[in-house]
Amino acid sequence: MESANIVILTGAGISAESGLATFRGDDGLWEGHRVEDVATPEAYRRDPALVHQFYDARRARLAEVEPNPAHLALARLEAAWSGEFLLVTQNVDNLHERAGSRQLIHMHGQNTQGWCLACDDRFPWDGPMGEGACCPLCRTQGRVRPDIVWFGEMPYKMDAIEDALRNCDLFVSIGTSGAVYPAAGFVQTARYCGARTLEINLEPSLGSYLFSESWTGKASVEVPKWVKEILGG
Ligand SMILES: [Zn+2]
Repeated sequence: MESANIVILTGAGISAESGLATFRGDDGLWEGHRVEDVATPEAYRRDPALVHQFYDARRARLAEVEPNPAHLALARLEAAWSGEFLLVTQNVDNLHERAGSRQLIHMHGQNTQGWCLACDDRFPWDGPMGEGACCPLCRTQGRVRPDIVWFGEMPYKMDAIEDALRNCDLFVSIGTSGAVYPAAGFVQTARYCGARTLEINLEPSLGSYLFSESWTGKASVEVPKWVKEILGG
């Protein structure tokens, strides 16, 4: 197994254990907002101030949270692994990179990055962005948005992800609901191409039956346990 190719998908569940609100609470709202009001291109056109306020608050919150044992275990696995390794995350926070992960794709973008609609460039962004944000490259003001893939937009690097899924021997899904496509379909792609598939989630997800193995429990407990096992104790 030591030279096998691994693809790992992470979702909101792994960030939740660091104290970041999951994308949909029990009330169906995301920190008090309807998803349509803060996470769509239409919302941004209609009320950019509200959308910026929402993402500015979440960006500020990143300074108050830390990667948890699940993030750290995945970075440890990557560093020790001799086969191909790719971590795909649906999360827009920076906890995986802060834990030390390198081969990482943010398929839904990153909140610590800005995207200038005037020059189409992307750049790191730490503080508040707001409506008056100025592009560090072309200097245009008011055309910088969070580099987040909103509902109705195309996730990033799907070709690279599909390639990795078709070539992997092991696919592991961690802390995702299995409800949001295209990520929900990754397990099928990997399985059709012969990969072993494992789900680690707080509760069996909607797509649980598609996995060859399923672990139920907290990511911060189960992921370090799994990493220890796969690295041979
Ligand atoms: Zn620009």
